[in-house]
Parts: sequence; C-alpha cells; structure tokens
Amino acid sequence: MARNSCVVVGAGIAGVMTALHLQRRGEQVTLIDRWEPGHARAASTDYNRVIRAISGRDEFYTRWARESRAMWLEMQAESGQNLMYECGALILATEGHCDWEDATAETFDKVGVPYYKFTPDEVRARFPQFKVDEIKYALFEPEAGLLMAHRCVITALKMFKDKGGVVKRGTVTTDAQERPMLDGQPIRADLIVISTGAWMSEMFPRTIKPISAIMGISVLYTSTPDGSDAFDMENMPCWIDHGQGSFGIPSSEGSGVKAAVVIPNTPIDINNDERLIEKASLAKTRTYIRHRLPGLVGQRVVDSKFNQVILTPDTHFIVDWHPEHENVLFAGGCSGHLFKHGPVFGDFAAGVGVRDYGTADRFKIANRRKLSPKESPSGR
Ligand SMILES: Cc1cc2nc3c(=O)[nH]c(=O)nc-3n(C[C@H](O)[C@H](O)[C@H](O)COP(=O)(O)OP(=O)(O)OC[C@H]3O[C@@H](n4cnc5c(N)ncnc54)[C@H](O)[C@@H]3O)c2cc1C
Repeated sequence: MARNSCVVVGAGIAGVMTALHLQRRGEQVTLIDRWEPGHARAASTDYNRVIRAISGRDEFYTRWARESRAMWLEMQAESGQNLMYECGALILATEGHCDWEDATAETFDKVGVPYYKFTPDEVRARFPQFKVDEIKYALFEPEAGLLMAHRCVITALKMFKDKGGVVKRGTVTTDAQERPMLDGQPIRADLIVISTGAWMSEMFPRTIKPISAIMGISVLYTSTPDGSDAFDMENMPCWIDHGQGSFGIPSSEGSGVKAAVVIPNTPIDINNDERLIEKASLAKTRTYIRHRLPGLVGQRVVDSKFNQVILTPDTHFIVDWHPEHENVLFAGGCSGHLFKHGPVFGDFAAGVGVRDYGTADRFKIANRRKLSPKESPSGR
C-alpha cells in the first residue's frame, strides 16, 4: 500500500511524538523545525516536567496521564535512557479552597489511581521539607513523578531518526490563506501537522490566534543545602500548591530544586525576548520558599528558565483540521500541561491525521469557552 507523505512542523514534544507515531503507523514522515530540536526557546526544553494524573474532575486527562505513564516507561525500557523518575506528587489543599483537591480524590477513586490522603501531621512526618501550617490535607500520588524533559525530546527524536525519519531545519510560514509554506513554496504533502507550540498563534492569525493567549513563565532552580540530600528526588516529591500559585520539582540529577511561582499574564515576545527571568520572580520565589520550604532559606539560585505557554480558553489542547485546508492538522495548544501526555497525545494526533478516527470534541477549534475553576482540569 502506498504510504502517505507526512510533514510535521515543530519538533517540541507534540511534534516529535506525533512524528514518531505517524511513523509507527507506517507513514513516511519529515519533521521540520526552525531551530535545532531541543533548543531552549521551545516550551518542551527544560531539565524536567511533572507527570501526574491529578486533574480535578477531569477523567479524560486523568486517564491520559495514566496511559502516558505506561508509554513513557515503555520508551524508557526501549531506549535505555532515564526518562522518568517516580518520586510521587503531593497536592497541598489549602483550608477553605479544597474543591479541586476534593474532586481529584473522587476522580482517582472512580478511575482507580492509587493515592494517599495525608493529614498535615502525616505530611510533616513523611515530607518534613514542607511547612504546612495552613494546609487542611494533602493528596499524595505515589506513581506520579518527573520526566527529564529535554532528554525525552531528544530520545524520541533519536527513535524517530533510527527508523528512517527525516529531520530538517527550516522556517515554515503561511500565506494570506494560511497555507503552510517552506522556502516561498506551498508545502506539498498528504498530511501537514502543525505542532509549533506558541508560534502556532502568529502563524495562523485567523484560526488559532483568536482562541489563544501566550504567557511567559519564569522558573528558578535553587541549590540544595550543603551536605544534605533532603531535597533530592529520592526524598522529596513533586508538589502542586494552588493556594500559593506554585508547583515544583525536587532536585533531579543535580538540577537544584525547581520552584515555579506563576506570575499570571507575564508578557513575552517569543521571537525577540532574551530568555532571562523576570526580576519579580526572584523576590516571589524567595518569599514562597520562606513560606513553604524553610530548609531552603539562604540557598542560592543556580539556574533559571524563562519560557512560554500557549493557553486556550478552556485549557484543552488543539487537535483539529484547518477549516479551509483539508490536509492541515493542528496538534498542540499546550495550556501548561501537554508534556506529560506526550506519548498518548502523539498517538492520538497521528490517528486523527491518518483519519483512523475523528478528533475529540474538547480538542476542536470551534466553541471554545472559559471553564470555571470547578470544571477546569488545572483548577484555575
Ligand atoms: C515553565 C513551564 C512549566 C511547565 N510544566 C509542565 C509540567 O510540569 N508538566 C506538563 O505536562 N507540562 C508542563 N508544561 C507544559 C509543556 O512544557 C508544554 O505543554 C509542551 O512542552 C508544549 O510542547 P509543544 O511541542 O506544543 O511546543 P514547543 O516545545 O514550544 O515546540 C514547538 C516547536 O515548534 C518550532 N517552530 C515554531 N515555529 C516554527 C516554524 N515557523 N517553522 C518550523 N518550526 C517552528 C519551535 O522551534 C519548537 O521547537 C510547562 C510549561 C512551562 C513553560
């Protein structure tokens, strides 16, 4: 049977995984990126990302995260690379604001995700790194953890190349009809997948820009205390701290402790900004550390990242056809939570791309609306 010619544009986690899964479906795939895959401006490139099933009431992403976990472990076994560390994830439920956490526990019961519910005293005994004075309870998901993000992208890329996948450098543009172009010519292929992350918005001003916003996020890595391994991933979980607008990852392979304090609506020029963190983040992170991780007070910042997310109104991803070009499929819309879903997302997008099935309603371009924090998978 003749194979389809497929072009995937963008080699972040969404594009690499979609390319890999198209290839596994027997297609002939070329992956194009404007910069070297793994480059630091892509949202997928950092030392690590959290993988957790925790998604409030949203059973769909809860199940996807569980399936992805299994697929990451398979990829890890196949490649021999350390892609995932199962250090667990702790969600801290603040007194008076526990709706999302209560809903997560209900969803876990329904879907069958293992978890523990800890009292503040149990958190103090088990994870003394956290000061939990205003916390009502915590949920601990032991099979959650962290993905070594940069390594995951590079490993998937290698698997793709080893099986004959072609990787090219090039900047894809669009014409007035939003047709994808390379070197001034329309791209000719049976399928063109657009996985350009936040750049999807400027490339498709009529189709994607109206349903997306781009936000910068600064994250800082703080040194672990001299002579102590208390903040290493062997002894500390990832955490989600909605009450403080924060989440974090313990030190992994010497990275330092990543405390992300999200400052909402931070503007970013994704093409021109120097990737230096916002000054305000330093003060905010230090205040957060004093409040939640007192054992890190006085430690120094050892690394930092200023990166972007593209947000859809409902924080659902985008996997849908261009309304005017029947061979152009969008695959992205990160909304701050796509990395963990990478393998399942890529497999799903590939299936839509070869028309094995249609897309899910939640991933369609049309009818996007803002969700209430109750409905939202992220609780925000
Ligand atoms: C600070 C931060 C923390 C996060 N934490 C988590 C987490 O803990 N867990 C989680 O699951 N997710 C997390 N996310 C979200 C996750 O990282 C993203 O959802 C995911 O990486 C998006 O991947 P992507 O492939 O869509 O985009 P990207 O990784 O940005 O890739 C897009 C690619 O397209 C290329 N490209 C762009 N324009 C063109 C063009 N015109 N022609 C050719 N190529 C082009 C770019 O060079 C780039 O390589 C976080 C994101 C941030 C910023």
